[in-house]
Amino acid sequence: MARVVVIGGGILGLAAARELVSRGNDVTVLEKESSWAAHQTGHNSNVVHAGLYYKPGSLKARMSVAGNASMVAFARDNGVPVDVCGKLVVATSADELPRLQALASRAEANGVPARMIDADEARAYEPEVTAVSALHVESTAIIDYPAVCAAFVRSLSDQDLRLSSPALGIRPGRAGGVEVATPQGVVRGDVLVNCAGLHADAIARLAGLTPSARIIPFRGEYYELREDRRHLVRGLIYPVPNPDLPFLGVHLTRMLDGTVHAGPNAVLALSREGYGWGRISPSHLLDVARFPGTWRLAKRFAKTGAEEVLRSFSRKRFAASLARLVPEVGEHDLVKAESGVRAQAMLPSGALVDDFLIENAPNQVHVLNAPSPGATGALEIGKHIADLATAHVK
Ligand SMILES: Cc1cc2nc3c(=O)[nH]c(=O)nc-3n(C[C@H](O)[C@H](O)[C@H](O)COP(=O)(O)OP(=O)(O)OC[C@H]3O[C@@H](n4cnc5c(N)ncnc54)[C@H](O)[C@@H]3O)c2cc1C
Repeated sequence: MARVVVIGGGILGLAAARELVSRGNDVTVLEKESSWAAHQTGHNSNVVHAGLYYKPGSLKARMSVAGNASMVAFARDNGVPVDVCGKLVVATSADELPRLQALASRAEANGVPARMIDADEARAYEPEVTAVSALHVESTAIIDYPAVCAAFVRSLSDQDLRLSSPALGIRPGRAGGVEVATPQGVVRGDVLVNCAGLHADAIARLAGLTPSARIIPFRGEYYELREDRRHLVRGLIYPVPNPDLPFLGVHLTRMLDGTVHAGPNAVLALSREGYGWGRISPSHLLDVARFPGTWRLAKRFAKTGAEEVLRSFSRKRFAASLARLVPEVGEHDLVKAESGVRAQAMLPSGALVDDFLIENAPNQVHVLNAPSPGATGALEIGKHIADLATAHVK
């Protein structure tokens, strides 16, 4: 049995804590904000992904497929709202068909139930959609991830959970283990688990590691459909993703409360918690500019990046992307909604890390890349972290 100090009170820190406690360990969870799930977990699309997009055998594929089942079961057992509504991935022109077919094959390889359907059947699910063909994925669900976190917190009520407690420094403990400095004093543990999301690479460096990747924050901006236009979308409508890009493309998502979200796009954020263009951190920008991968990434995605920035400033362009899926959606149907920032790891080569990346050292586990479908896979990632965290504990 060990005492584990978990940094980060998002869905992964809390899921890891819950799993560690269920195996007989004690945890301290340090969260710098005054509430749980304050960053990625509380600003995402609330989709429980099915697992069709990811490379077969990858951590993302395994943990999203298993995580879809375990997250839905957890929600049902714990009174968390969830709706297994399925989704459509829509090819809007014939040239997208080979990529849609490739996605169907990938779904099959990952064991995800998905079916190619024709335009008429697509319109039976979504009457307003434009499709030449579509992939219907039945296990995709919508959920309330902050409510999942609240359920995790309830299950940890006998543990040491600390809000407003930023980890400021980390050093080896005198009798082994780790010591984490917080404004309220030093917290001691046998093992450190770093689930600090947008700050995960900085925390790894504080702990003495040289992480193989650094976090690049990508903001995802959302709009909402005006209330009187919500009828245009019944469920979840996604475009066929461009395999060269790391994100899924702007899509339409009906949430549990009946609102319809449109987005997210993907623009480079100007600070780690850069929820809008006005949130700029000069030291972050300098740090990013010094990282060799940044310039390689900028060169590779210059055209897409510039288009994304233009779309970020233009509701008209945003609406035009959505109108490819549902032609009735127009600029005046969109109301700005809250954005989220993704913690996406990048290598010095400029490549964006595709899979989840979890590195460990003696007495330390660091989650260095857990973008979407990280929330879907949370219970499975929690098990993986717990395995690594306790592997060396006698
Ligand atoms: C726009 C967007 C849409 C997404 N959509 C989906 C989706 O539909 N489905 C899905 O499965 N996934 C989705 N994701 C991904 C998903 O949100 C993440 O995979 C998941 O939330 C990661 O959880 P986390 O706990 O690692 O990070 P976070 O939720 O960011 O938690 C990290 C926590 O660490 C805390 N922290 C940081 N530094 C310190 C410190 N020094 N001391 C103490 N605490 C610290 C932060 O305050 C934060 O609360 C989306 C993400 C975004 C941004």
